[in-house]
Amino acid sequence: MIDPVSEAQSPAATAPLIDPFGRKVEYLRVSVTDRCDLRCVYCMAEDMSFLPKAEVLTLEELDRLCSAFVKLGTRKLRLTGGEPLVRRDVMRLIRSLGRHIQSGDLDELTLTTNGTMLFKHAAGLYEAGVRRINVSLDTLDPHKFQAITRWGKLDKILGGIQAAKDAGLKIKINTVALKGVNDDEVHRLVAWCGEQGFDLTFIEVMPMGDIGEGARMDQYWPLTMLKAELQKRWTLTESDHRTGGPARYVRVEETGQRVGFITPLTHNFCESCNRVRLTCTGTLYMCLGQEDAADLRTPLRISDEDGPLIDAVREAITRKPKGHDFIIDRRHQGPAVGRHMSVTGG
Ligand code: SAM
Ligand code: SF4
Repeated sequence: MIDPVSEAQSPAATAPLIDPFGRKVEYLRVSVTDRCDLRCVYCMAEDMSFLPKAEVLTLEELDRLCSAFVKLGTRKLRLTGGEPLVRRDVMRLIRSLGRHIQSGDLDELTLTTNGTMLFKHAAGLYEAGVRRINVSLDTLDPHKFQAITRWGKLDKILGGIQAAKDAGLKIKINTVALKGVNDDEVHRLVAWCGEQGFDLTFIEVMPMGDIGEGARMDQYWPLTMLKAELQKRWTLTESDHRTGGPARYVRVEETGQRVGFITPLTHNFCESCNRVRLTCTGTLYMCLGQEDAADLRTPLRISDEDGPLIDAVREAITRKPKGHDFIIDRRHQGPAVGRHMSVTGG
């Protein structure tokens, strides 16, 4: 168990985080590592250089940062990466953060994973208080899976998903819509998720990080087109279901499951943004699609008291921008931001 840290108690220190546009910030996504055991073509270049270990926050520091956010009103915490489950001893952090679920200070502790390590950790996640996870899976075809992830084996992921199901975790599948890659598989994915009892969210590919000349334009498949394709075969009923994230959902009447659409390009959802993102070096990004960031590692390390850290978080929230400026078209094929998705975890 990671030791609880000293905690600032004054009312000012615990007042909720409200940004200049009146949005309450109560969802923190934490990239616990920038490393990953896969190299998905839309996310990373094959040959990536990762952060030196010395720059990465310890598990204790990550715990302290997350706990400070919980004190400032964060109700939902999502661990991501890179691949969160490849970080050494990450289960120790997850078990420790589970105390905020037990105390009722946090509504949800969850993670986004590529599924490679679920066979090992699914039961432990449930025991720690995790109830739902997102698993990224873009195809059910083993050859395509290997081509998309460069290194992955589909069987291992499907085994991990089964282990998660057996452990009692509710699963949502995340699928990035990729033109010419999985556009012929969307019906199969909807049917499979229906059989398995999983919700499914499609994501538009976002222009983050350099992945090679022209590649984004080749990959980008607007979800307006994907939805039109789904409507040829499925009865989609609009739903007001929300999970605290940006997805908009429909219910597939034939399967009873939900399908979500995350559409940063075709429909901007920034007006309801309630989240910020922390990297494994303690850098806070107030928007996924902007470069501005705040260093929380320095205030974290200068004092064992949370005062300087909380001041730095509050100052950062005053800089949360109105929205992102993602565009992918013939004139805008380069990245909107230089960092890869694996830095902030999507
Ligand atoms: N490794 C974990 C995984 O793959 O689930 C967590 C980190 S990954 C960066 C989080 C999510 O971002 C995944 O669902 C992935 O498909 C998505 N993603 C990565 N790069 C993306 C991009 N350029 N555009 C849209 N989604 C992206
Ligand atoms: Fe790794 Fe996830 Fe990025 Fe794929 S999407 S390379 S699994 S971090």
